[in-house]
Amino acid sequence: MSRQADELVDLVTRLREIEERIVELTEGSVDAITDSQGRPWLLSRAQQELRERSELQRQFSEQQTAILNALPAHIALLDANANIIDVNEAWRHFSASNSTTGSQDSIGFNYLDVCDAAPGEAFEAHRTAAGIRAILAGESDSFSLEYPCHGPDTKRWFNMVATPLRSFQQRGAVVMHIDITDRKLAELELRRAAGFFSASNDGVVIIDTEGFIVDVNPAYSRISGFSQEELKGKRGSIHLRLNGPEMERKIEEALEARDHWSGELRAQRKDGEVYVQKVSVSTVRDDSGQVVNYITVVNDITRLKAHEAELDRVAHYDVLTGLPNRRLLTDRLEQAVRHARRHAESLAVCYLDLDNFKPINDRWGHEAGDRVLVDVARRLENCLRESDTLSRIGGDEFVFLLPSIDGGSELDQVLERLLSTLQEPLTVNGGTARVSSSVGVALFPDDAEDPDTLLRFADQAMYSAKAAGRNRYFRFDSREVQQMEERKSQLQSIIDGLKHHEFILQYQPKVDLRDGSLIGVEALVRWQHPERGLLSPAEFLGIVIDSDYEIRFGEYVLETALAQLDRWQEQGLHIQVSINVSGNELRQAGLADRIASRLAQHVGIHPSQLEIEVLETTAIKDIDQVLVALTQCRSTGIQVSLDDFGTGYSSLTIFRRLPVDTLKIDQSFIRDMLVDSNDRSIVESVIHMARAFNRNVVAEGVETMEHARVLLEMGCFQVQGHGIAPPMDAAAIPDWIREWQRQRVWESLRG
Ligand code: C2E
Ligand code: MG
Ligand code: MG
Repeated sequence: MSRQADELVDLVTRLREIEERIVELTEGSVDAITDSQGRPWLLSRAQQELRERSELQRQFSEQQTAILNALPAHIALLDANANIIDVNEAWRHFSASNSTTGSQDSIGFNYLDVCDAAPGEAFEAHRTAAGIRAILAGESDSFSLEYPCHGPDTKRWFNMVATPLRSFQQRGAVVMHIDITDRKLAELELRRAAGFFSASNDGVVIIDTEGFIVDVNPAYSRISGFSQEELKGKRGSIHLRLNGPEMERKIEEALEARDHWSGELRAQRKDGEVYVQKVSVSTVRDDSGQVVNYITVVNDITRLKAHEAELDRVAHYDVLTGLPNRRLLTDRLEQAVRHARRHAESLAVCYLDLDNFKPINDRWGHEAGDRVLVDVARRLENCLRESDTLSRIGGDEFVFLLPSIDGGSELDQVLERLLSTLQEPLTVNGGTARVSSSVGVALFPDDAEDPDTLLRFADQAMYSAKAAGRNRYFRFDSREVQQMEERKSQLQSIIDGLKHHEFILQYQPKVDLRDGSLIGVEALVRWQHPERGLLSPAEFLGIVIDSDYEIRFGEYVLETALAQLDRWQEQGLHIQVSINVSGNELRQAGLADRIASRLAQHVGIHPSQLEIEVLETTAIKDIDQVLVALTQCRSTGIQVSLDDFGTGYSSLTIFRRLPVDTLKIDQSFIRDMLVDSNDRSIVESVIHMARAFNRNVVAEGVETMEHARVLLEMGCFQVQGHGIAPPMDAAAIPDWIREWQRQRVWESLRG
């Protein structure tokens, strides 16, 4: 644009020169006009020339106006005083839309005044005025200035160029304002892009249409370790190698389809370190849609990834053993089940619980316990295959998944090896400890098909393994689960029954055959079931035994019996009540204290009025514990009787140590002793033994008076059984006693 301006100025200047000469000629100051070589023309020729010249001048003047008006630049011609003497169309138009001149065309205004009135400091009115003055004074040949011009809604950029103009012997100037907004914006855009490119923290790689690197920014050099020079001209895909050809194809496809791809890639720095980049590639196209290049923005997210991995580790792995935790196990189990289903394979879910881990913790402390767990984890790992998943899901509980294994011998082998490895001695704090483990196994798809159920079944099977004596594995058995479910619902109805006072005690008298006196009554529990009627202990005791309600149940019986004793006392009936105590009740610490404190609440009852019956089979089980418990009970003043004697085959040594007052000969021997001489011999020897060790002896299950007579003969005087009286409601006892004493049946027994 400024070259155009120069030419224009040149043209105008020459035109003015010619004009000057013509005027000189006309005024007579010269008498001939010479050509460019100085040869004089004829005067007549000169006059003709003059005419032609004046025509030329007119034409030229028109041309000049046309040219000036055709130009997009705003052009003004100034006289020597900087007054505006002519302007072009563009100037006029601009002035009309920009009223700073206050006039449509500004002609007659002084340009220097216009400068002063121009808006904004960017125009630099003083500099411009000085520049124009220098040109007008012939001191300078040109002046130019780029400045922004703020309109009401827009901002445009102009280049102001001023050059000298000579005309009619006076000096002037041509001033042009050329709109350079587009160029300026493009320049700014370019500068901004370049600024981003070099200042960005993200690496930027520009790749040409053939896939070669055109440029990289300093950030990318920093990230990759390669300098700009080392990278320029290299294939852009060299850094994709670590991600395989598959990935390269994927990126190409995405760029073709959507002009964009973003994702994570692994790359290698110059020093060889592998790192993770977050990459976003965009296709750049020109206005016609042709691909110009590809811009790749790269972030080094290695540290972010490492942080993510750490978070992932904490969330999914057990801190102590480094094994997957329950959460990760859930994922792995789901995956394993999906895989097994897809490939029609089996999957074994195994639940392992250490059998005697608590004593290790108690004895050696938690730190030692932790080391044992780590040791156990390593041993388990060594027994399993690479494809198996081992996880620790709680204290001493581990779960492992064995994919594609059948439920047969292969599984047996793995589990047996595992159990025996875990049994090997462990070194703890310089000492040696042993643990064993119980494992429950559930198989996909045989036992269950969904992950939750498989895990639950494996857990149940583990409990069965424990119940069966520990240090073993158990395959899940659906019948067992059914039984467990049934047991659970039965136990619930027992709990409900207790709440609704559906359990009652019946009492069965025990008498002395020598004088018919009542020794006492045995309390026998019954369930007055709302639908099934009166139920005997055989139908519900088994469910209570070993449940959490066993102790509560025993307390209920004790309390009910004591309350009944109170009532009988009030009626003037002073008798002894015996209650049956289960093995767990006996072994539960504090039984004696509990009984004593209950007795203390019934002031009218003497401790000797209460007897506990303990089965011989339970008494000899944990003999040391039982000895302590029975001794404590007896020291409170209550009586102890050994029930069902003869079924436990206790040795004489044990029998001698047991602190009991009475033996109750089991009813199975009594029932058949009239016909079975072996049973009769057993009964006889029990009677002798009791006498030898100075214990009372009671025969239970005395069904007929004949039994009673034989027992009396053998020297067993105390009896209990249907032959004397069946178990009955408490209310019936006083009447029965009266009737028993009225009939005096025992007198007929004496030979
Ligand atoms: P047990 O302590 O040996 O009680 C004697 C059982 O023999 C009672 O059965 C009684 O009804 C039954 N019986 C009595 N005389 C005869 C007879 O002449 N012939 C026959 N065939 N049976 C006779 P029951 O009431 O069904 O009790 C069964 C067992 O349940 C009891 O045996 C006792 O071990 C247990 N039991 C009963 N009540 C309780 C209780 O409150 N707590 C605990 N832990 N066990 C109880
Ligand atoms: Mg009994
Ligand atoms: Mg018995």
